[in-house]
Amino acid sequence: MSEQILAHFADKLARLKQAHNHRSFRQLQHQGTHIHLGGQKLVNLASNDYLGVASDERLQAEFLASQHEYLPLGSSSSRLLTGNFGVYESLEARMSSLFLGRSCLLFNSGYHVNVGILPAICDARTLILADKLVHASIIDGMRLAAANGTKCVRYQHQNFTQLETLIQKYHDDKDIERIVIVTESIFSMDGDVTDLTALVRLKTSHPKLMLYIDEAHAIGVCGERGLGCSEVFGCIDEIDLIVGAFGKAMASVGGYVICHETIKDYLINAMRPLIFSTALPPLNIAWTAFVLDKIITMQSERARLKQRYEQLITHIKSLGLECPSNSQIVPIILKDNERTMRATAQLAEQGFFVLGVRPPTVPQNQSRLRICLNSAISDDEFERFCQVITAFGDGDAWDAKV
Ligand SMILES: *Cc1c(COP(=O)(O)O)cnc(C)c1O
Repeated sequence: MSEQILAHFADKLARLKQAHNHRSFRQLQHQGTHIHLGGQKLVNLASNDYLGVASDERLQAEFLASQHEYLPLGSSSSRLLTGNFGVYESLEARMSSLFLGRSCLLFNSGYHVNVGILPAICDARTLILADKLVHASIIDGMRLAAANGTKCVRYQHQNFTQLETLIQKYHDDKDIERIVIVTESIFSMDGDVTDLTALVRLKTSHPKLMLYIDEAHAIGVCGERGLGCSEVFGCIDEIDLIVGAFGKAMASVGGYVICHETIKDYLINAMRPLIFSTALPPLNIAWTAFVLDKIITMQSERARLKQRYEQLITHIKSLGLECPSNSQIVPIILKDNERTMRATAQLAEQGFFVLGVRPPTVPQNQSRLRICLNSAISDDEFERFCQVITAFGDGDAWDAKV
């Protein structure tokens, strides 16, 4: 590579640093619900392990002890070639029975789900209407769909009035045969919950509509059996594509869609990340199935998590700070990149690991602390965290209140 080419990339990095927006890996060690970082032991409030399943070593030991047949640590090919092991079919059947008999198809990750399904089901006669704050994987899926001529329009975050206006505008357009509404049930950065009943109502009165809901942060966490917000809202049957990821509360890896069997069959024939990527290791699929059966009975962990986030959100608001959340993802929006990073350092001094989130993950001027609550941390740690936030109420990190 020439000096000139390297200088181009070095310049880009320098600009990121200047904007306090340069990222790098951390050297950290995990110990249950804690991490060791820079010689300090910190309570991990940045993990997606909402129910403490990933940090529970006994659970993994129980799983390994229960494995009697040989399951490879690599599948060696795509499921359409020779990578289709029985564990895939049985996990899909189990998911299907939980989701009222609808079909289930597994994928290698939640990222694959979103970059794969959207371009597969959309064409030049499809319109995608997506919430402004959807996850990067959905945005990439829309970009790929747009390359096939799909029209993509974003509506303001949770603004269903604007969404309805857009539906009216396009529903009678004879060039558009299908309209896919794409959104998340729990938003990964704001932690707010989407009114799925309102979306189902819109769908019922507009025959061209399809609903695509990403439940990555809701699976395991919401609902009596932890099936997600579609269980809470009682609309598992009404959402055309319920998608999610096993990497968060489920403490595994992979993604899924719950859909009509015709759509499943179609995706097997059209979805490129499914067709052209090696399937996940069968042993990992067995772990997902093992966790799934545990998680549907974890009502007390879900109740503890809910009680905690409700308490924390009330507390943050009582300090005069803005918090849009209604879930275990609790942001405190500080806007400024530098102030956000200073606040994370101050929390670390107090023994808590909280991530600051900056653009482009969130919009410009929306930098924030993003607290991810966990049912497995101790009551003492949680209470102390609430106190630390209070102490910061008058402190430097919170000087310009949002
Ligand atoms: C994490 C996440 C994904 C990606 O899932 P992975 O399994 O980590 O690839 C997709 N959508 C949303 C909303 C997410 O938060």
